[in-house]
Amino acid sequence: MADPAAYDVVVVGAGSAGCALANRLSADPAVSVALLEAGGADDREAIRVPRRYFSLWGTDVDWGHVSTPQPGTAGRTHLMPRGRVLGGTSSLNGMVYLRGAASDYDGWAAAGCPGWEWTAVREAFAGLEAWQRPAVLAEHNLLSQAMVEAAVEAGLPHNPDFDDGTLDGAGWNKSTIVDGERFNAHLAFIAPIRDRPNLRVLTGIRVLGLAMDGARARGVVVRRDGGGTETIAAVETVLCAGAFDSPRILLCSGIGPAAHLEALGIEPVADLPVGENLIDHLLIGIVYDSRRPISDLNAYCTEGCAFARSTPDRHDCDIEISFAKEPHFAPETGDGVPRFTIIPGITRPKSRGTVRLTNADPDAPLAIDPNYFSHPDDMATMIRAVRLSREIGAQAALADWRLGEHFPGPATETDEQIARYVARDVSTWFHPVGTCRMGPGADAVVDPSLRVHGVAGLRVADASVMPDIVSVNTQAASTMIGWRAGDFVLG
Ligand SMILES: Cc1cc2nc3c(=O)[nH]c(=O)nc-3n(C[C@H](O)[C@H](O)[C@H](O)COP(=O)(O)OP(=O)(O)OC[C@H]3O[C@@H](n4cnc5c(N)ncnc54)[C@H](O)[C@@H]3O)c2cc1C
Repeated sequence: MADPAAYDVVVVGAGSAGCALANRLSADPAVSVALLEAGGADDREAIRVPRRYFSLWGTDVDWGHVSTPQPGTAGRTHLMPRGRVLGGTSSLNGMVYLRGAASDYDGWAAAGCPGWEWTAVREAFAGLEAWQRPAVLAEHNLLSQAMVEAAVEAGLPHNPDFDDGTLDGAGWNKSTIVDGERFNAHLAFIAPIRDRPNLRVLTGIRVLGLAMDGARARGVVVRRDGGGTETIAAVETVLCAGAFDSPRILLCSGIGPAAHLEALGIEPVADLPVGENLIDHLLIGIVYDSRRPISDLNAYCTEGCAFARSTPDRHDCDIEISFAKEPHFAPETGDGVPRFTIIPGITRPKSRGTVRLTNADPDAPLAIDPNYFSHPDDMATMIRAVRLSREIGAQAALADWRLGEHFPGPATETDEQIARYVARDVSTWFHPVGTCRMGPGADAVVDPSLRVHGVAGLRVADASVMPDIVSVNTQAASTMIGWRAGDFVLG
């Protein structure tokens, strides 16, 4: 396709959501689509080989975001990796694929987002999964089997299928791994359709801001790798740049909290809560010494997990526990003892943070403040999650494996001790969402059809639009949002 004067749709960001959206839009040969990606090709070995994903953090395929110091986590800052490469964060994530709870999406609909209830999004999941092909790993590590059995012994039901919207219980999760290799959003949604004449995939294109004409977006202002800036015109622009960079592009373009923008010398175009409502999951590890060598079958891939309710009166699960066959969180010992980790996480956090610009320069670092544990219920839930994980770790199914708790160790026992260990060692689960929240009124950034309130020709479709976080790892929901945006843009 020759470069048209203006594309029908420019999609910003070839990540989980953007790849799914560009696939859907370009299925109509009458619609010209440009998919713009700041990063480059996704062909390096560490992207393909699932067990090597940790080695990608902090490299040139990671945006390298860092949080502000967090009072709730002993004043620590947290690395917040985000993919800057074809496939976006699906190129460096942990590949767990879980749709979420029916109650997650019914909650969005009840909060003023009709059309996002479970029955509607379930259809979208079925559609996108024909391309993404998530699957339970074919063969399970014996230690993973023992951990899933231990969760059932601890009183959780066996859950044979997390896809049906009911999370309670322990079982096998799906992964975005096909034939033993990472199957990222680029391979799933774009590689098979790369020859569509109406689709241009342009890498090395950093979007600096929107080309605004009053309150209408007419495309994007970009900088090509090694080149100058230019405008790419579009009838409609859809931001799929993720929970940090979609708000950055909006804020740099004058769309956001007016007082914040004015303080930075940016003229406000639309006064919207861009960058507020940052929500993230947190997790921590309980590490056990193993009495047996641990096979490296499916090393560093989460095969099994469990979901639970922290109190019996809850209507949904607020704890997810992952089972890892490696030591995580504990300091390196170099003693050669094989170790495994039970990883409790909180999935319905109440703390809310912000993403802000530090100045008007799009290249300046962001101020990312997840505000971890600012709501006291989150620590209470984390303590219950740690206790439940230890119950699982103590079951007979693990008797052949468990030598003893290595980290944090049995001396960490009271609520106060557990809270101190959590604050000191807890990690982001790398699931930031919510910074361009969807909702019906001007207290939200986008409407339920993902149009930015008060701005024509502009939508956001990625993890940032979630009004509340889903109760599971966030890639499936992010991909689904991109897929569903296809319904709205094509109208
Ligand atoms: C280390 C890690 C492990 C994770 N593990 C899991 C897991 O196991 N399971 C799971 O479900 N979720 C996991 N996640 C989370 C999940 O991957 C994300 O929620 C999901 O990929 C977000 O999708 P997105 O489309 O919103 O953003 P992204 O996939 O991040 O896509 C955004 C894209 O936009 C591009 N972009 C950004 N700014 C610009 C710009 N200005 N110009 C041009 N392009 C731009 C980026 O380069 C990127 O390609 C993990 C995340 C991380 C970081």
